[in-house]
This record gives sequence, structure tokens and C-alpha cells, in this order.
Amino acid sequence: MHFPVTVRDRCLWLGVLVSALAIPAAIQQHAAKDALVAAKTEASKTDALAPKTDAIVHEALAHGHAFAMLESLCTRAPKRLAGSPGADEAVKWAEAEMKSAGLENVHLEECRVPHWERGAIARLQLVAPATFVEVKLPILALGGSVATPKGGVRGEVVEVKSFDELKKLGDAVKGKIVLFNRPMDASLLDTFQAYGGAVDQRGRGALEAGKLGALAAIVRSMTTRIDDFPHTGAMHYDEASPRVPAVAISTAGADRLAGLVRGGAKVEVQLEIDCKEFPDALSHNVIGEIRGTSNPDELVLLGAHLDAWDAAQGAQDDGAGCAQCIEALRLLVSLDMRPKRTLRAVLFMNEENGLRGGLAYHDAHKTELEKHVLALETDRGGFAPRGFETNASARAMELMRPIVATFEACGGSMLKPGGGGADISPLERDGVTVMEYVPDCQRYFDVHHSALDTLDNVNARELELGAALIAALVHGVADLDEALPPNPKPAAAVAPGAAKK
Ligand SMILES: [Zn+2]
Repeated sequence: MHFPVTVRDRCLWLGVLVSALAIPAAIQQHAAKDALVAAKTEASKTDALAPKTDAIVHEALAHGHAFAMLESLCTRAPKRLAGSPGADEAVKWAEAEMKSAGLENVHLEECRVPHWERGAIARLQLVAPATFVEVKLPILALGGSVATPKGGVRGEVVEVKSFDELKKLGDAVKGKIVLFNRPMDASLLDTFQAYGGAVDQRGRGALEAGKLGALAAIVRSMTTRIDDFPHTGAMHYDEASPRVPAVAISTAGADRLAGLVRGGAKVEVQLEIDCKEFPDALSHNVIGEIRGTSNPDELVLLGAHLDAWDAAQGAQDDGAGCAQCIEALRLLVSLDMRPKRTLRAVLFMNEENGLRGGLAYHDAHKTELEKHVLALETDRGGFAPRGFETNASARAMELMRPIVATFEACGGSMLKPGGGGADISPLERDGVTVMEYVPDCQRYFDVHHSALDTLDNVNARELELGAALIAALVHGVADLDEALPPNPKPAAAVAPGAAKK
């Protein structure tokens, strides 16, 4: 499961000797000795923790429930965008699953959420050049978009790759339909970084196009895969500018449309969607705990989001995270591993198009934020484990490193600086140490927010392994003798509602 001590010691000595070459001789011996003592202390902590991790991983692989839980969520509440009947069903599902997992203090906490429905019509049809009339291109309305007038809008397509390019076109886009066609950068190893570099087109494409008098915005789907599945996601308007319809087009569709435009022909499309905004609805976060033995007021939170886009089942985004949070605690209950501090699973509502659940949790628990030792989120899919990212202080990192080192054989021992997830960003803003579970990211955006986000695209073993490592991580942190030191409150507040997905 972990590195044999003798081999590790040899490696440590080698590292110490190499780094000592540049230091005066008198200091060398002290520094080398201190470094070795620190490394040995960390190694012995890892050795002490390894049997616990091994037991959790074994239990998860032999008798895990995460995949079965995910299957029941996907079957019972496949379309669970906030404010929908599916979301209500998902809340009931989560409450029942937490109770049957043996969690304590299972309860719902209210939040008010936006209620938007995409409607039944999503049609993008080429109407010129004449040879392509009747060709239909796969689209999905973007979340929050207004509808087109009945019968749709017709306009010439203009392709842009950036907002600078759009700005330069200026009045030239008036009365036209703007195709935002900058692909995610496939050369980047981290697909989340590639997503971050392209998603502004989805978020504010319609807003910027509308300001210039365009009729609508068509946005290339956020995936590196070339196929015919459009990927939806959140977009926004502002109070002052005209609201024009916004849709995502499949990558293959975007390439086809752009190819025609670049070919020099005048390309016209007819676009029709019939989405609708309703008044805010009542919904809930779902919470369950394992109470701590000696410091029950101190908390380690683990969270995921219960809502999902309505294109499919939300299996990877974020059904996987929901199943992992409940399963992580169920594993600990079944192994009778109750830590010193309380473990609290929170399934947040409305991450995708409002973050109201995350904000409501923050507001309802304001007085105990200082008691949140750590908040961890899992919202990158249920793929094979790679490790964890965190904004923890250097001392907190030092305390967590021996725990994460026990995940090496599972491929999940990365611990590096980073942030948490969107749902826990309001906690991060108030100084809570946050962390994100990081699985392999190469296939996540193949399915993200599309009709492909279904249970058959989730690997059961990878999902269970992730639940096991999350269980071992939160148990390890909640059971430390010394609580993680708090992070200093950030000087500049993070903007609320800055959902990244
Ligand atoms: Zn998500």
C-alpha cells in the first residue's frame, strides 16, 4: 500500500545530501539531521495511518454502495435542475439514503432557488445557402436564456473567436446571429484549465452580442470531443442590456457552420427555443453527520451538489459526488470508525445556475464557521483518484500530508495548492480551509452538461475508490490530535455566486 521504509530512507538521505552541497559545512549537519527527523516523523505517521486507509479501501472495493446509490439517484431523479420536480425528488432521495447509511442528525435546510425550464423546442436550421436548406444542427438552450419569438429568429451567422473580435465587428453584427467558436485548448493537460479558458463565451456571449444589437448567440459546446452532442450550462444577462436567446451547439455542428461561413457563402439560420423563467422556488440542502467523540463541535464538511442539468442524468456532474459523500460516511459507520470531530455531509442545491444552496448554508451556519476545520467538495466526476487540492496553510498541509501519503497505491496521493469547489466558495471567503477531491480529468468534459452524462459513463470501481479516499481523508483530518490551523480571512472577498460550472 505504501513505500517500504528502508527504500524510502535511502531516498530521503540522497535528497538531503544533494541539497546540502550548497550550504556551509557547520550548518549542513544540523539541517540534514532536522530534515531527516521531519521526514521520518512524517513517514512514521503515514505508517500508523496506512492500516485505516487499507481497511476503508478494501471495504469500498468489496462491499461499496456508491455505484448502487448513484444508480438509484439517476433512475429516480434523472433531471434535477433546481426548482424542478426532479430536484424535489433528489432531496427526498438524499434524505432517505443518508438515513439508511446510518448518519445522524439527518435534516433539510431551506433555500430559495431560481426556476428556469428549457421547454420543448430547440431547433437550429440552415436556411441559406440553398443547397443546405433543411439541415438541422444539434443545440440545447443555455440555462437562463430567454426564448426566441414564436416561430424563431432568422439571421446571418457571424463567427467570432473572442470578445475582442466581436468588439471590432461592432455594428456589423447588428441583426445577425453570433457564433462564438473558440474551442477549449486541447493542448492543455488540465481540462479544467481548458474549460476555464473558453467558458466565458457561454457565460456572457449573449450579453455582449445583445449589446451590439445581435439577434442571438450560438456558443460552441465546452468539450474537446468532436461529436453531435451539445453541452448546456449557465449564462447570464445584466439589467441594462437587451436579452437575446443563447444556445450551445455541438462541436461538430459548430465546425460545420463555421466551415460554411469561412467558405464565403452567406449563411443564414433559423433558431427557435421556448424556454421560460418562473418565480423562485423553495428547495433544500440535505445534511447528515457522524458526531465526533471528543470534539463534536468542530466540523469537517464534505459536500457535493444535488442539482444537475436537465440534458441527462447528471451521473458524473454531480451524482457521483453526492453518492461519494454519503458513501464515505457510510463506510466509516460500517467500519465503526468514529473520529474525534464531527463529519458533516452537505448535498447542496442549485450549484449549476445560482449557487443558492452554498450561499444559504453559509448564511445559516455563520456562527459556527470558525468551527469548520475543513470543507471538502467533490464535483469533478467519479473518475480514478489523483489526489486533492487545497488552500490550506503550510502547517495544515504538513498535518495532512501523512494522511494523503497513504493513498499512493490507489493513485490518489497528490496534495497540492488550489481551491475548493463552487458550493464551498462562500465558506472559503470567510476563511474556512477548503479542499477539492481531484480525480483524473481527461474524460470529464466528454460528458459534462450533455446527454452523455449517464450512468453507463461511470466506472463503478473508480467511483468506489474515490469514496474510499474521501472517507479516509475526512476521517484522518477529523481525528488529528491537533486541529488544522485556521486560514487567515482573505482580504478581498470572493464574489458570491461565482459558480465555475
Ligand atoms: Zn458540478
